[in-house]
Amino acid sequence: MSQPPEPLRDVIARHGLQATKALGQNFILDRQLLSRIAAIPGIGDGDRVYEVGPGPGGLTRAILDTGASLVAVERDRRCLPALAELEAESDGRLKVISGDALDVDEKAEIGRGGHIVANLPYNVGTLLLLRWLAGDWPPFWSSLTLMFQREVAERIVAKPNSEHYGRLSVAAQWRATPRIAMAVHRSAFTPPPKVASAIVHIVPAPQPDGVNPQVLETVTAAAFGQRRKMLRSSLKSVPGALDALNTLGIDAERRAETLSVDEFVALARALSRD
Ligand code: SAM
Repeated sequence: MSQPPEPLRDVIARHGLQATKALGQNFILDRQLLSRIAAIPGIGDGDRVYEVGPGPGGLTRAILDTGASLVAVERDRRCLPALAELEAESDGRLKVISGDALDVDEKAEIGRGGHIVANLPYNVGTLLLLRWLAGDWPPFWSSLTLMFQREVAERIVAKPNSEHYGRLSVAAQWRATPRIAMAVHRSAFTPPPKVASAIVHIVPAPQPDGVNPQVLETVTAAAFGQRRKMLRSSLKSVPGALDALNTLGIDAERRAETLSVDEFVALARALSRD
């Protein structure tokens, strides 16, 4: 990888990789920006990374340049020849999987302690984020570095009493620490998407004791499903919830968006005992 890399615009032209809207393709061509993104997880020699949606391979190369090794899954078969070129230059550090990331067992691919990096269409990105935030804890990944529409990124890091605070905020914050690592302007992409983007960096945190994740999910789904209503109405459908609010001293006239993540956790813990 010591040669100066070919401009990504040329790689794209050489392989005929015009962006396809149906696959949510908005490519980043600026190598400096790609290096700054690859630096976010703090990876280097010996680290293992799983990249979703490498496309023409710009971020892939930037990750390889850190010294890390990488498994990358891409759904668009047109991108495979460009990725095969990178694979050939990588001294065995890059493995490309052709397929849909939703079908890949990423834990089997990178094992415990790996880092996940993705610049994905927003619907697939949110689905995968929820999958990576669910399940046994601590998770197999050490960090997630994910590009989202700015509004989705704000929902992930939102605090109570704010417009963006909701289910996704609680899911991302109750046993992990998310932050917005970088705002990315529309003009950084080819073609530019309609809205601004941001990169979220998430690391696992200790899981609070005695909480069943499914119970927490049921509580937040009910509470935020009717976010303008008081808890005594929105949580009526959750057995035991109104008694638990009372025991915990949480005013049932409050609305979901005023409850802290710790209060949701306390409520889920009380209901997990039943
Ligand atoms: N990583 C490149 C970059 O930063 O320029 C490309 C990003 S582009 C926004 C998203 C990429 O994800 C595209 O290459 C697209 O084909 C791929 N993709 C979309 N859905 C996918 C899926 N379900 N599984 C794997 N790759 C997917």
